[in-house]
Amino acid sequence: MTDLQPADAAELDALDRRHLIHPFQRGDVTDRVVIVRGSGTRVWDSHGNELLDATGGGNWHSHVGHGRTELAEVAAAQIAELEYFTSFLEFGNDKAIRLAARLASLAPRDINRVFFTSGGSEGVDTAFKAARLYHGRRGEPDRTWLLARHFSYHGATYGSGTATGFPPMQMGVGPNLPHVEKLMPPYVYRSELFNGSDPTDFLINELEQTIERIGAGNIAAMIGEPVMAGGGVLTPPADYWPRVREVLRRNGILLIADEVVTGYGRTGAWFDSEGRGMEPDIITSAKGISSGYAALGAVLMSDEVAETITSGPGLFHGYTFSGHPVACAIALANLDILEREELLANALSIGDWLRTGLAPAKELATVGDVRVEGAMAAVEVVSDRDTRTPMDWMAVEKVAFRARRLGVVVRPYGNMIVLSPPLVFSSEDAKRATNALVEVLSDLGTDGTLA
Ligand code: PLP
Repeated sequence: MTDLQPADAAELDALDRRHLIHPFQRGDVTDRVVIVRGSGTRVWDSHGNELLDATGGGNWHSHVGHGRTELAEVAAAQIAELEYFTSFLEFGNDKAIRLAARLASLAPRDINRVFFTSGGSEGVDTAFKAARLYHGRRGEPDRTWLLARHFSYHGATYGSGTATGFPPMQMGVGPNLPHVEKLMPPYVYRSELFNGSDPTDFLINELEQTIERIGAGNIAAMIGEPVMAGGGVLTPPADYWPRVREVLRRNGILLIADEVVTGYGRTGAWFDSEGRGMEPDIITSAKGISSGYAALGAVLMSDEVAETITSGPGLFHGYTFSGHPVACAIALANLDILEREELLANALSIGDWLRTGLAPAKELATVGDVRVEGAMAAVEVVSDRDTRTPMDWMAVEKVAFRARRLGVVVRPYGNMIVLSPPLVFSSEDAKRATNALVEVLSDLGTDGTLA
């Protein structure tokens, strides 16, 4: 229980409205939920309401769950020992070094080098610079183009934001990063995107044509989430990444796997790209690396890419808090918990429970598709199942608000409801979350009204 009094809750609400600008704040939403405490799979708001967190802290990041005192102790001990000293130039610290080595041991093949950031967007920008620098240093400075995909989220800085496949990210803030081209995603449910062809055949053909149009000698890299999370848990056909990889390799184009969501166990593997045949040159990661106990991201690179960009004139790039020892100490302890409690395996069990719990939703007139991959799920809400017309997003927000009233936090994403629970979710948690969601969706009419 929180010891906040109702008066405090009202004051917080007023101060929030007056002073705090929320990321992705919308002008038309007046609702505020002030979270003041968390423990395991639960959080409490300033009014004392207990909420089941089916979102992994709201941003797919809380792998080990909330309120882990052992991580608080690790942070306190590290602050007492060394709160921070730069990692620039020849300096470093023991925790950043140990974490880099640990990540290299978990990463596939020749991915052995790590550059730390404070989050995913900085990581994606770092990866873009690394890819361009790599080619430039190898005598191909014209390789500046970056290939990304519609419906993919990569971040909110100018670089990562331009690569993001949601147009509102680029609107009104132009000019955006030049030389970014978007391809179609492997959104199999939307078969109309592929003109009746096999999705992978269509997408490979589009990729080949795009490379021909821009010129292979002008393209630095392609970026892609192994499974598109924010796009609505879009798992590609099994042959998609191996075939993309082959085309890119043939054309000398690097592949960046954006594992900011999928990394560190969300789909049951340390790095999802490995089992999907991506064989990336660079992996961006964040979120689950520290389960949100510190702001941290890691860009993992192949030996070849790292050696090329750090040799000669070196790498003129870095952030003040790259390799922050407190964040890195927390991340090391967080990885210990993931291993000790076998949370990667639990992610797969969570997937099974979500699949079972959401099965009844497939029968509803307003549900077009239910997709589950590891510990994440998306319910695609439609106003017409035959035409697959997306439900108005405001109606989908009402579904999320109603679920919260039933004590479960889920996330609306356009016409989808997404679940990405902490990897400590139990079968009871999964049952409660899916029951609540199915109950609310059952009350949703095809006209968007909630009974
Ligand atoms: N890449 C992916 C796949 C993401 O989902 C996100 C954030 O949700 C980012 C990058 C950006 O990370 P951050 O918000 O930590 O900057």
